[in-house]
Order: sequence, then C-alpha cells, then structure tokens
Amino acid sequence: MKAPDISTTAAVMTAAAALLCQVVPVTGATKLTAGTAVIDITPPVDYRMSGYFRERLSTGTLNPLNAKAVVLRQGDERAALVFCDIIGLSLDVSSRARRQAAEKTGIPPENILIAATHTHTGPLYFGALRKHFHDVAVAKHGSDPYEKVDYPSELVAKIVKVIAQADAAAKPVRLEAGVADQRGLSFNRRFHMKDGTVRFNPGILNPDIVRVAGPIDPEVGIVLVREANGAGTAAALVNFALHLDTVGGTKYAADYPFYVEQSLRETFGHNFVLFFGTGTCGDINHIDVTKRERLKTDHIGRTLAGTVKAKIPDLKAITEPTLAVRSEIVHAPLQRYGPDKLGWARENIKKVGTRELSFLEQVEAYKILAIEMRGAETIPLEVQVFRLSRDVAVVGLPGEVFVDIGLAIKRASPFQTTLVIELCQDAPGYIPTKKAFAEGSYETVNSRIAPGGGEMVAETTIRLLKTLR
Ligand SMILES: [Zn+2]
Repeated sequence: MKAPDISTTAAVMTAAAALLCQVVPVTGATKLTAGTAVIDITPPVDYRMSGYFRERLSTGTLNPLNAKAVVLRQGDERAALVFCDIIGLSLDVSSRARRQAAEKTGIPPENILIAATHTHTGPLYFGALRKHFHDVAVAKHGSDPYEKVDYPSELVAKIVKVIAQADAAAKPVRLEAGVADQRGLSFNRRFHMKDGTVRFNPGILNPDIVRVAGPIDPEVGIVLVREANGAGTAAALVNFALHLDTVGGTKYAADYPFYVEQSLRETFGHNFVLFFGTGTCGDINHIDVTKRERLKTDHIGRTLAGTVKAKIPDLKAITEPTLAVRSEIVHAPLQRYGPDKLGWARENIKKVGTRELSFLEQVEAYKILAIEMRGAETIPLEVQVFRLSRDVAVVGLPGEVFVDIGLAIKRASPFQTTLVIELCQDAPGYIPTKKAFAEGSYETVNSRIAPGGGEMVAETTIRLLKTLR
C-alpha cells in the first residue's frame, strides 16, 4: 500500500480546516440582531424645568425630548439600552420601567440600562428640589398648577413602550466600533486658586486661577449599527464626557446631541438614530476659561459629529459578537447629618433661589434633604457591563461621575474599546473621587456619597469587565 503523500494530506487538512471555518460557526458568532425605537417624552409647556437651583417653568420647545431604545439579541442573550433626554432618572422611575419592560419583553431587568443624557433643559420631576417647589405650589394654590400630568408615570410607560417597540423591530446587524479623539470642546471646570482653594467654574479670564485641578477625557467612543442586509446605517452609540448644560433658557431642548444627530443624518439619512451616552463628566463642561467666547450648542454638536464622521472609515468591524451582561450593586456609604443640621436644611430650603443664602449653602440644604428622602445608611449604586465582543464593552454607572473614575476604568479595562456612560438608573448627585472630596467645592457639596464611594464603583466595574473578558 502506498504511503499517503504528505503534501496531499496537508492539502486535505487545509481544505477540511477551511470547510470547518465555513460551516461550523463559532458559538459566539451566532447572529446578532438589533432593533431601535424612539418615543417623544417632552412634557407639556408650563411644567417645571430642571438644571438650576430655582423654580423655572417651561415656555416652549426648541427641540423635542426623546427616549431612544436599542435592543440587542444574540441567541438567548438580550440587552436593552435606553437613552432619555432628561437631567437624570429617579430610582423609582428606572426600577418601575425595568420591571414592567421585563414583564412585557422577557428581557431581564438587570440587562436593561436606562440612561439620562443630563440635558439641563428638561423636566424637574423628582428629588428634594421638586418636592420643595411642589409643596409650596400646593400650599399656595391647593394643587400644583405646574404638574398637570403625572410625568414620572408617563415616563415609565413610555420607556416600557419604546423598549417593546425596539424589541419587536429586531433585524440582523453588523456592528463597528472604535474611538476618536476630540479636543477643544470639553474642559475640566475645577481650578486651584491663588488663595489655596479649589473652585468650580471660577469664571472666564479669572486672574486668580493658578491651574486646572483635573483632566478631561478626549475619547469619543463609537459603536455603529449597520443593517446586515443592506448598506444602511441604522444607528450609532456615541459616548463623550461633556456636561449637557449649553442651552439655558426656558424652552425644552436635548442640548448638543440634538445637533450631533442632525449632522449625522445628513450623512446617514433621516431615519438614522443617535444614542448619546453621556461620558463621566461630573467635573467637565464646555467653558474654556482662557477665552472670552463661549462655545455654542450647535457648534459643539456639529464639531462632535464631524469627528465621528471622520473616524468611520477606521472603525473596526465586530466580526464575532459575544453579547453578555453583568450587573452588580455597590452599597456605598452615605454622608450623615445630625438632627441640628437637618433642621437647618428644612428651614433653609425655603431660601433656595433667593439671595438670602449663599449658593453652596443652598446646595447643601438641598443635598441634606435629598439624603433624608433616601432614608438609608448606604446608597445602592448599580454597575452594569455589556460585552459586545472580546474587544468592545459598554459600562453604565449611576450619578454624575468624575472624569478620573471613567479614565481609571478605561485604563484598567481588558477591552480595547470601553465606553463608560454615566447617569444610568439613578441620579444620586455627583460621584467625586477621594482627591476631589479633599479639595471640596460645589460637586462635593452636591454629593450624597461619603468619600471612597467613587473608588468602590471603579473597582467593581473593573472586576466585572475582567470577568466578562
Ligand atoms: Zn449638571
């Protein structure tokens, strides 16, 4: 019998291996589908607006506020990400919405991320400040003329609806991901001053500024959703760390992401949907203290969209999606106040929006009452991690997170591309670092957590990322 020719055997093996690659799908390469949906969540005119420490009633709409959902599905794994044009989510609203959406769609509540973009031109519908203004209105008018609708319940119903609609719209998709670099739009807003203190927003061209107290995160995380059976680009998730407080006034507006979406629609068509995941920008805004001119909302949006567009040819295709989700609750310690301080806060909340009390004292009174409303010793901070592939992960964190925490997570992440989205599920004020707590100023006064809570969140996130990798 003739011995088999080695080259023939090798050729057969190569052919078999090639065939194997063609016909045997890698378990992780099960088809990925995605569905998207958008729902209008703009409250009626006359509703109270959020964003500042005074009562402010809306007088109209500059551009609509939306809740936008994407539902991803691969095999048995499903995940929903929802982005709402509001200042923050109350834990009550997000919990109700996740529970009801889970009942309706079967997506587990822990696989549902609900994020707020943090626009400062949306409704004030929860929290200690809303309660104060509401109580005053009821005492004066018998009922609150600025809450003619039950906005929290409407918001819950709409979030549930938009998740169900996205779930029903699932189509095969291809994802592409990458990170662009954006300079000149975002600035750390905390500064060391000549008197030795650290101040937030010390003012343009302030001669007492010594140096900036923290970094920015120039990364623009991008996940592009392309339809698998056509050339269409359905949607994109864009993640950037810049506070959405560039509009002001009394008209509802989605802030600069509105212009990011408008600009991307010029390229991708009118049906394109932008999911804007606000990055960890607790200490970042759009004010460049070295220049007299402030950046305008449309300029910020169009510049950011230009950066995204320029990056598109270099995005990396996710050829083997491996969808998986992990979530964990960090029980961070709350700040504590005695009865005297609580009495002081109850008395002084009445002075919010007046000149009778300094700004930081107004913030402190509000913060103490916000802690009191929680009625607990610790605060549950949920960390969610969504793996899209072995290279790409998306993190959701509650609160207004300091940029150093987002940067620490990205640095330690075993994923090549990590998007970190703040203000998911709950809005317990700022999540500063220990360093920032030691320095003080506005964000640490407007924080409910005790020093160290931010580091606990970072450690848990990094552990979950490592588990998923
Ligand atoms: Zn803010």
